[in-house]
Amino acid sequence: MCIFCKIAAGELGTAFLYEDENVLAFRDLDPQAPTHILIIPRSHYENVEELASAEPLTLASLFRVASDLADLEGLDGHRTLFNTGVSAGQSVFHAHLHLMGGRPLAWPPG
Ligand code: 5GP
Ligand code: ZN
Repeated sequence: MCIFCKIAAGELGTAFLYEDENVLAFRDLDPQAPTHILIIPRSHYENVEELASAEPLTLASLFRVASDLADLEGLDGHRTLFNTGVSAGQSVFHAHLHLMGGRPLAWPPG
């Protein structure tokens, strides 16, 4: 089972900031900004493209949850992103939306 499937199953005791039948949100273990939250589908898909094909409504839900959490965190701006593939920085192959904010975010990212 992949690490995020284990988190979704509650095996690692992760605190969830949000959960419903399809979606979970929790803080990144190695935050790159004051707010760095991961929002994931409960179902395992390797990347966002697989998620988009199989469960487009769940993909939309990830962005709705990101928007709600950005408000709750009091962010005046935020970045949402998916890394797809090793060369883009993907290290966990269970689709996850990064929500980052709380500091100025440079563009373009490294
Ligand atoms: P990626 O590099 O695949 O876009 O993002 C994976 C993210 O998952 C990284 O930012 C990494 O810090 C985070 N991460 C990896 N393992 C764990 C874990 O066990 N718990 C949490 N909360 N975050 C994790
Ligand atoms: Zn998984």
